[in-house]
Amino acid sequence: GATIGILGGGQLGRMLSVAASRLGLRCHVFEPGAEPPAGHVADAVTTAGYDDTAALEAFAASVDVITYEFENIPTEALDVLQALRPIRPGREALRVSQDRLTEKTFLTDLGLRTAPFADITDAASLKQALEVIGAPAILKTRRFGYDGKGQARISSPDEAETALAEMNGAPAILEGFVEFSCEVSVIAARSADGSVACFDPGENIHREGILRTTTVPARLSASQRTDAVLLAAQILNALNYVGVMGVELFVTPQGLLVNEIAPRVHNSGHWTQNGCTIDQFEQHIRAVANWPLGDGSRYADVQMENLIGDDLDKLPELAKESDVAIHLYGKAAVKPGRKMGHVNRIIRG
Ligand code: ATP
Ligand code: MG
Ligand code: MG
Repeated sequence: GATIGILGGGQLGRMLSVAASRLGLRCHVFEPGAEPPAGHVADAVTTAGYDDTAALEAFAASVDVITYEFENIPTEALDVLQALRPIRPGREALRVSQDRLTEKTFLTDLGLRTAPFADITDAASLKQALEVIGAPAILKTRRFGYDGKGQARISSPDEAETALAEMNGAPAILEGFVEFSCEVSVIAARSADGSVACFDPGENIHREGILRTTTVPARLSASQRTDAVLLAAQILNALNYVGVMGVELFVTPQGLLVNEIAPRVHNSGHWTQNGCTIDQFEQHIRAVANWPLGDGSRYADVQMENLIGDDLDKLPELAKESDVAIHLYGKAAVKPGRKMGHVNRIIRG
């Protein structure tokens, strides 16, 4: 069978490896950090930095196709890899999603709606943007942010200076604060032949910028549900995308706004492990390995709850509950804010 190369050995790489293994495929994980969660399940692990050209070349030569679990892969490393093996999803999806300004510009060029946004380079551009967009607003670094890191809320213009200082000189964008009724995400997949399949949208609850729970079904009307999957499909088609993508949406009385896209399997899609015949991880492996997409229709109501930091203390009680599937990532150390695992709770009517 084929070997899948995975850039990144975190929990997403781990769960991708499990799915690949179930399909009789082999996995080789590339990860700079020591003791990666995926290391326990992958067939091979390369521990090296993204600046190590020889290690990247040896990794690429050992696999048939390369995919990834995170979007911040350095461009130079991608150049080295792409010369040897196909990278799926492709470079365009990475280019667009690595930078919030590029991402929002791409989305609005497609005719989709986002929060109002502006490029921020200094105090003057921030002042001007606040006059147009108004407060409350959120200042975000254009690159490298996740779990709400690199973001500062601006409730009134006099907070602009402090917020800008929090960016530490990094390029930023200002986003108008969206008064959403709820947040949902669509986990969408596209195969090389252009077929698209979307999982049922999930409703997301965040606390302190980190996803806490995803619940399916989301509280959406039939037309909102249709809008959500159609706009996700539009994004995948525009990128000629191959693989699974997470599309985060704000639901507002005026319609759906796209918050951000993630060119990979997504935390808000973990419920599919226990709510669908084919989960997001297998769906992604199927797409990048050139298999037909699987049946992702939902057969249960599910609530996914992340186990973050000390939440792990709840494990003994959770393990006694019926209808609770436990997924742990095998991380060595517990840290505040660190995702240690998740549970999928089947909801019975
Ligand atoms: P992720 O871990 O999902 O990649 P992130 O660090 O990229 O997160 P965002 O998704 O941009 O951050 O923001 C995190 C959360 O903060 C959102 O899910 C939403 O709850 C809130 N948020 C972000 N931007 C806005 C906005 N413009 N208006 C209202 N709420 C927002
Ligand atoms: Mg993000
Ligand atoms: Mg997000």
